[in-house]
Amino acid sequence: MNGSILIPENFTLNGKTYKVVIRDKELSKKGFWGQAFLNRKVIKLCDKFHGVSLTKEAKEQTFFHELIHMILDSMGYDKLNEDEDFVDLFAQRLHEYEKSKQ
Ligand SMILES: [Zn+2]
Repeated sequence: MNGSILIPENFTLNGKTYKVVIRDKELSKKGFWGQAFLNRKVIKLCDKFHGVSLTKEAKEQTFFHELIHMILDSMGYDKLNEDEDFVDLFAQRLHEYEKSKQ
């Protein structure tokens, strides 16, 4: 369990399975809250960054950011995938949508 209903353990994009795993030590060492491994189809997230718990909001926002990277990669939009501002804004909008829908 990832501690948030908005963060799954597995999902598919274009019929391919992606995994979400928690890797506190590895990511803390690298200095990231999350990382998308495009070829391995794995999203790594932190519960704790250097021993400090991320807020649910920060963790979800990080998940959606990495998810957008995965979606764009699955579409073959590599140039757009390098645009971190675009990825982050899209992630914010999708996160807001997921939180607010009734
Ligand atoms: Zn990014």
